[in-house]
Amino acid sequence: MPRKFLPDDTLRDFTCVDAEYIRKHRIRGILTDLDDTLAEHNRPQPHPAFETWLSEMKRLGVRLCILSNNGTNRTKAFAERHGIAYIPNAYKPRAYYYKKAAGVLNLSVQECIFLGDQLFTDIRGAKKSGVFAVKVQPLGNRSNFFIRIKRRLEDFYG
Ligand SMILES: [Mg+2]
Repeated sequence: MPRKFLPDDTLRDFTCVDAEYIRKHRIRGILTDLDDTLAEHNRPQPHPAFETWLSEMKRLGVRLCILSNNGTNRTKAFAERHGIAYIPNAYKPRAYYYKKAAGVLNLSVQECIFLGDQLFTDIRGAKKSGVFAVKVQPLGNRSNFFIRIKRRLEDFYG
C-alpha cells in the first residue's frame, strides 16, 4: 500500500478515541466521516455508543465536525440532531474541506485528527491536508460480517 493511503493509526471504532487517547495525542478537534464511521450507511440512528461518546468528547472540550461526501439532507439531519458542526458534499479526498472543517472549529489541522473508514477517500484526504489520519473499521461491513458468520452457524446447526 503506498504511503499516501497509509493511516497514521488504526482503531476498531470511534469509541477507541477515549480520554487517554485525547490526552496522548493532544487532540482539540475531531473531523469525522459519517457513514459507516458514526452510523451505518444512510441509517438515521447512530452506533449505540455514539451519544455517550459524544458527551464525553464535549466534556473534554474536544470540538467535532462531520466531513461527509454524502449530501446535505443526510449530513445536516444527523449533525443537527446531535448539535455538531458539519460539512456535506466534502469531495474527499480533496484537501480543501478538511482545512475548512478545522477552520470551522477555530483550530489548525495539527490540532485535529480525522476519523474515517475508507482509505482512498477519508485517509487519502487526511494525509493530503496534514490531519492525523485514523482508520476505523466500517460499522456496516462489520455487522454484515457478523450476520454472515451467524447465518453460516445457523446453517451448520440448523
Ligand atoms: Mg464512510
